[in-house]
Amino acid sequence: MNAPSVCVVGSINLDMNAYVHRFPRPGETLHGGRFTTGYGGKGANQAVMVARLGGNISMVGRVGDDIFGQDMRRNLAAEGIDARFVFESAGVSSGVAVITVDDNGQNTIIVIAGANGLVTPDDVAAAQAAIAGARVLLCQMEVPMAANLAALRLARAAGVTTIFNSAPVSGEVPAEVYQLADIFCPNETEAELLTGIEVHTLDDARLAASIILDRGARAALITLGARGCLYVSADGADEVIPTVEVNAVDTTGAGDAFVGSLGYFLAAGVALGTAIERANAIAAISVQSPGTQSSYPRREQLPPELLVL
Ligand code: ADP
Repeated sequence: MNAPSVCVVGSINLDMNAYVHRFPRPGETLHGGRFTTGYGGKGANQAVMVARLGGNISMVGRVGDDIFGQDMRRNLAAEGIDARFVFESAGVSSGVAVITVDDNGQNTIIVIAGANGLVTPDDVAAAQAAIAGARVLLCQMEVPMAANLAALRLARAAGVTTIFNSAPVSGEVPAEVYQLADIFCPNETEAELLTGIEVHTLDDARLAASIILDRGARAALITLGARGCLYVSADGADEVIPTVEVNAVDTTGAGDAFVGSLGYFLAAGVALGTAIERANAIAAISVQSPGTQSSYPRREQLPPELLVL
């Protein structure tokens, strides 16, 4: 049997983490204690999650013509991701996040979109066969909306299941994006920014979900952190799917682990409720160790029953 096939259109970033006792003041030079790098970008994170579960995954995106770009392409390839449609932009940097963390665990973060900001509808068109040939398309909000729209239109026309992960919310989401989403997936904060409903209780989440459905999405899936998620669909489903209770040490990238896993299981033909339960279980594993991609489990590390298709 062919491996479940997923296409991700999205961002590819390098996180650069500098650890300092305190933050420097303007004009000040400080010696930090430690420096680490980590592969990131919501698109790449979700693609890596699919790859680690054993999916057949292609990625559409852009890197700059710098050493980071080459390195990130190598990382995608090493994870088994088809990066033929990860293009290189001349004269711009790759996407980076420059992060400082102080002794109190506070951070400052500067994100430079770089080449991620240059992904175009033409890039998406070049990957038409990869998108139309997939079972599931995953999009987020770290590349231009025009590229997402092009991908969502292509996928819908080809009968590919579309998951739009509205993260991070920056500006308006066009009406057509809702209409082209089989599953529109925000977290609580994003749901509030999009709908104006503060999401504290399940009823708040239901109200936010109903607005998302009114805007044309076929289903709304709101992730609720340690509470799991709420799934509400235009055809009447309304389900809370709890996650596994664990001791969370670092929830960075949990949303991407969840969305990537969901994409994989839906592409595999697993029933929706079960796919969401398993995505919860895998995201819950990811929060138990530090880092983003480094906290995503590989197939071999998972209980076999989680992988039965
Ligand atoms: P984001 O990472 O985008 O902020 P959430 O915090 O809603 O998104 O988390 C996404 C998913 O990760 C949740 O739906 C859940 O499956 C899992 N998750 C997050 N935090 C925890 C936690 N503390 N314990 C167990 N699972 C968690």
